[in-house]
Amino acid sequence: MPQNLWNADSAARLPDLDGLVYRSNLLGSDRAVVNIYGGNTSAKLTLIDHAGRSTNVLAVKASGSDLLTIAEKGFALLRLDEILPLFQRDMMSDEQMTDYLSRTAFEPGRPRQSIETLLHAFVPFKHVDHTHPDAVISIACAPDAEDQARRLYGDRMAFVPYIRPGFKLSQWIGHKLIDHPQIECVVMGKHGLITWADNSKTCYDNSIRLIQEAEDYIADACKGKRVFGDLHVESLNAADRAAIMAQVLPIIRGAVSSNGSTILAYDDSETVLAMVGGAKAAEVSQLGAACPDHLVHVKRQPLFVDWSPADGVDALKARIPGDVRAYQERYVDYFEQNSESGDEMGNPAPRVILIPGLGMINTGKDATNADVSRQLYHRAIEVIGGSEALGGFVSLSAKEAYDIEYWPLELYKLKLAPPPRDYAGKIVLITGGASGIGRMTAFRLAQDGAHIVIADINRAGGEQTAAELNERFGFKRAIFTHTDVTSEAAVQDTLRQTVLTYGGLDVLVNNAGIAGGAPVEDTTLEMWQRNIDILVTGYFLMAREAFRVMKAQGIGGTMVFVASKNAVFPGKGSTAYNAAKAAEVHLARSLAEEGGAYGIRVNSVLPDAVIRGSSIWDSEWKESRARQYGIQVHELNDFYRQRNTLKVEILLEDIAEAIAFLGGPRSAKTTGAMLTVDGGVPAAYVR
Ligand code: NAD
Repeated sequence: MPQNLWNADSAARLPDLDGLVYRSNLLGSDRAVVNIYGGNTSAKLTLIDHAGRSTNVLAVKASGSDLLTIAEKGFALLRLDEILPLFQRDMMSDEQMTDYLSRTAFEPGRPRQSIETLLHAFVPFKHVDHTHPDAVISIACAPDAEDQARRLYGDRMAFVPYIRPGFKLSQWIGHKLIDHPQIECVVMGKHGLITWADNSKTCYDNSIRLIQEAEDYIADACKGKRVFGDLHVESLNAADRAAIMAQVLPIIRGAVSSNGSTILAYDDSETVLAMVGGAKAAEVSQLGAACPDHLVHVKRQPLFVDWSPADGVDALKARIPGDVRAYQERYVDYFEQNSESGDEMGNPAPRVILIPGLGMINTGKDATNADVSRQLYHRAIEVIGGSEALGGFVSLSAKEAYDIEYWPLELYKLKLAPPPRDYAGKIVLITGGASGIGRMTAFRLAQDGAHIVIADINRAGGEQTAAELNERFGFKRAIFTHTDVTSEAAVQDTLRQTVLTYGGLDVLVNNAGIAGGAPVEDTTLEMWQRNIDILVTGYFLMAREAFRVMKAQGIGGTMVFVASKNAVFPGKGSTAYNAAKAAEVHLARSLAEEGGAYGIRVNSVLPDAVIRGSSIWDSEWKESRARQYGIQVHELNDFYRQRNTLKVEILLEDIAEAIAFLGGPRSAKTTGAMLTVDGGVPAAYVR
């Protein structure tokens, strides 16, 4: 139920553009009123220009922003007096319209105006809301949409059958309002709602009131009905769903990732489970998108996997690759049947996958993108359900859908994104990521697009690192999993969480470590065992579980072992550490051999003393090393610098850079290698 959230006190203090921001954020706060990135709002303002002239300005949402979070800078400002004469034209192409509008900018440097700008300009009221309310779209997608809308709104409404947004639709609406000044709204077939007023509050009140009426209407129609049919497949319980998805998600990721890297989002909410388990779900899910604005993120159809828990997990695993292939073939047909010369086909993989009993999987180029798809399909479920309750769901035709999906003006939004980076859409698990080298690597790879799993025994440091990564790089770019790498169960659980969060794994950075060691006679069995447990057994356990996930995905992967110069040139007096590090690199080379057949590359980085920022260099270890070399603790830094050929200090950033190289595409033809990052220690030159 949409709530009227208007706060007169807050609103009164907000003049002009800030007032528009306030109203937009309120509308955006209810996704059933306006979906993520969808809809747009405007205000006709009088502003003073750079030369001190009072100017009529249309402030309209810019392309690509979201009403929930839009700020003042998210609005385009255009000179209204230069736009209004366009109303008299007979026709304008999209390109002409965009070109013309970009020349009416009131202020340089603002983002490009919404593709629905003319509609806002031609509505002869100061404030205009264009929303995508679930309930209104349910009505607008019913088989007898206009009759249903008329039954609800009577002559307070004008109904416009579906026309792709642009000049013609805007002009049509402008004329309707001139001819019928008493109407309160326009319902756009298969699309959404337009409301208006001469002040911002009344505009908002009108939007909420009319949407509430539509919600009541749909609620009434739904009463006593199972809109997706009788229960056909019962949902599994949460634990069973997670256990199955942990096996199935890597296979899905492998199947959909052929054209690049993909992040998955898994949703097993009650709403989704109820929908996918319905007897009509397979059929109605294929009828088409629930709103033109959804298309780019959910495609025209989801992939519906015809499976039931009674068939068993193996059957599901076996059928996914074929189902995805068949979906892609259908997509290619759709493209070929509707494309015009010059169109370039996008990734044919599904963005939404529905599996009875289990839920929904969304795909995206990153976690945000997958989540947008997830959120939009929730809207689709509501819209389709509402239309079904009214007698059936009628979507855009294939051609109408194609014209939106491949609309140059829509694609423009996507083109705003920067070109993909080395780790875009990649999933990277870093052991020991809470501190030192691991933490620096996490930031380095996230900067290049990676989604990071920090696996560490240090909870406070790990949580802090993941929080900072999310803060800096955005939604769900990192998670922390509390992991002791020496525990088989903990390692398995970490891989499970990784898969359930992101869908799979591309890169394992085996890095967790300790400093430890003493001359052989002082090396206790416990000390020896601790080094072996963390640096050898821990690396083995992580690598084995990562290997299993990578193999199931079938799209290769990389592992980078952070060993040490000591792996090839032992430091005197740290026997256990030296031996463990040597075992580590040999483990890496063994895995390189086994992984080759699956495109899994395994390499090692061999740092020498990285003192600043590493917590293994606590005072005890510093003292032990200084004692070993017969120097003072404060001389250590210089000692290490002087002993290498380049006379340089080795920094966390240097190791992170080497890991970035070996873990990513720039080293695509290197495996089983050791890369020293030690300023040149001749005795450690790799032979
Ligand atoms: P660091 O102490 O700053 O980070 C190591 C991280 O590993 C810590 O966050 C710690 O909590 C974690 N860890 C320890 N035991 C763990 C366990 N059982 N399970 C999960 N996490 C565990 O040290 P660093 O310098 O960043 O070291 C990282 C790696 O680099 C280590 O393998 C180390 O041997 C290697 N290395 C470091 C240097 C150096 O001089 N700093 C030189 C050569 C190699």
